[in-house]
Amino acid sequence: MKVLACDGIDPAAVKRIRDAGHEVTEVKGLAAPDLLTALRGVQGLLVRSATKVTAEVLAGAPDLKVVVRAGTGLDNVDVAAAEARGVIVRNTPNANSVSVAEITFAMLLALERHIASAAADLRAGRWEKTKYQGREVAGRMLGVIGFGRIGQEVANRARAFGMNVLAYDPVVTSGPAGFEWVRHTDRDTLLRECDILTLHVPLTDDTRHSLSAREFALMKPDAGLVNASRGGVVDEAALLAALRAGTLRAAAVDVFEKEPASADHPLLSLPNVLPLPHLGASTGEAQRRAGMDAADTLLEALATLSTR
Ligand code: NAD
Repeated sequence: MKVLACDGIDPAAVKRIRDAGHEVTEVKGLAAPDLLTALRGVQGLLVRSATKVTAEVLAGAPDLKVVVRAGTGLDNVDVAAAEARGVIVRNTPNANSVSVAEITFAMLLALERHIASAAADLRAGRWEKTKYQGREVAGRMLGVIGFGRIGQEVANRARAFGMNVLAYDPVVTSGPAGFEWVRHTDRDTLLRECDILTLHVPLTDDTRHSLSAREFALMKPDAGLVNASRGGVVDEAALLAALRAGTLRAAAVDVFEKEPASADHPLLSLPNVLPLPHLGASTGEAQRRAGMDAADTLLEALATLSTR
């Protein structure tokens, strides 16, 4: 069958699909109408984040049967439109968890020790020792909202650093096995008690802007926020107001409501914000894992088509 691999899928993953006997065309940076031309006669589509699989694209690709996103989430695929056309949609939910947990911890430590600002000052010729007195994380309370794959990986790293962990997740309300040391609580208690808050929820109607003025007001004024989930989970205007007013000490954000964030985005100008350009899954390991998982998932789905 014909497969279109977009956005730079790992070469080993492409090879795996070719070795299984399928014809793979690799493309980058295509949007409709070029994407539609490339999709003629194609049954399987592999994407990362850049290619937008919209209802329009799906309507113009009648041969398409399977879409696989190499990564967590399906933000760039119109899943409802695909399902309405009988197109199978899959992602690779396990591939990025360790990389995102590691960047979350890097952001957390960088916030507490002013790593980015101190390095920027030193590069500009300023040797600032007293300005950047930090805080140890050992003994501090980490609040984890969303205790799924990434939340649990982050909790394990926090434990290794001697932190205490509070979790809130409406589905994972205790444990799971191996996490008996985590205290599960309601959301408001977590917000009130944590020294650092980290978010690991998907972006849904329930979670959109679920961190807003009310939530920031509940938090300790010297608390920090780390967001490596999705930009829309945090109300950026409310975050900006809390940081400016000093009711929240600092924030590290890997994700923005609108990406790429523009150079004049107000959060980028605050000294107590550590901004990153959505780097959570940007490791060789995560991309390779996502590519191989996506290839296996695609092959499995294509195999079910031939038996239908
Ligand atoms: P997961 O599905 O394993 O876990 C998400 C958890 O959130 C689930 O346990 C779910 O019950 C919980 N949840 C849902 N709604 C909630 C709510 N309203 N309040 C509290 N908890 C809620 O997903 P995961 O693999 O851990 O990924 C978490 C998120 O991380 C993804 O959805 C994605 O948005 C984000 N992510 C970011 C990057 C990045 O590059 N920064 C990369 C991968 C994933």
